[in-house]
Amino acid sequence: MEKDYEKLRQYFSEKAVEPVYQLIVNHKVQLVITRQRRTKLGDYRPGLNGNYPRISLNYNLNPYSFLLTFLHELAHHLVWIKYRNRVSPHGTEWKAALKNLQKPFLSTDFFPMDILEQLQPENAPLYAAASADTNLARILRKYDPKNNSILLETIPENTLFCLADGRRFQKLGRRRKNYICRSLDNNRNYIFNPLAEVYLSD
Ligand SMILES: [Zn+2]
Repeated sequence: MEKDYEKLRQYFSEKAVEPVYQLIVNHKVQLVITRQRRTKLGDYRPGLNGNYPRISLNYNLNPYSFLLTFLHELAHHLVWIKYRNRVSPHGTEWKAALKNLQKPFLSTDFFPMDILEQLQPENAPLYAAASADTNLARILRKYDPKNNSILLETIPENTLFCLADGRRFQKLGRRRKNYICRSLDNNRNYIFNPLAEVYLSD
């Protein structure tokens, strides 16, 4: 448990660590940090077959997205406990649950002003789609760590690089519009789009 607490420090803002930890303990959910998924920031799985209910969050969210996505998924958990799948995923019940969960966090202790504004009740209907093209999403992106990625097509052949999830490759030759790259993990070749965002290994 102490280890979990320490882990939270890596991802959440200083002041959020304690209340987030309490929520995890009180609601008996398991928090898992995963690699980046392009289609979602996090997800929730009910605890079926004796497993803990599980909330997963992408590792590379900024601290504010971490907190908002965590609360978003925790609201799914509360709705599941009460209604199972009898109500719609982002329906009235979920919105009410989220509002309650967010309430104690709506201060400058936890969020900068520009994010807080987006969380005011009049903007709340937009919040459900935090990963979509909303003002909130746009503002959150401002707080993402500087992205040092470069495009695969701009690096010389034979260069070693890695992907956001840490897998390492070597850029080989071209095949039609794409590049062949060899995985350093399993030695197999993969086809890459020239516009793939990669990171240079150091
Ligand atoms: Zn959702």
